[in-house]
Amino acid sequence: MRIICPNCGARDRREFYYQGDALTLRRPAPDAGPEAWDDYLHIRDNPAGLTRDLWCHEAGCGAWLVIERNTQTHAIDSVTLAEKVKR
Ligand SMILES: [Zn+2]
Repeated sequence: MRIICPNCGARDRREFYYQGDALTLRRPAPDAGPEAWDDYLHIRDNPAGLTRDLWCHEAGCGAWLVIERNTQTHAIDSVTLAEKVKR
């Protein structure tokens, strides 16, 4: 699988570290209740199909990326710098 880093261009997937669901960019407010924090920390969907994940180009520029991809076909729809993604 090739991932097109916005800073470095097309690179092998092995240069990237998979963090997980990009949901982690939407952190609850510090005073959110325990249910909101439990959902944020422990509850994850496991869809077959389109996902929105957080990756780091750890063997390249070190940028954090939000990658939209299809888990069934491995097709990547978009790669965006995480700092440019609205929270
Ligand atoms: Zn890069």
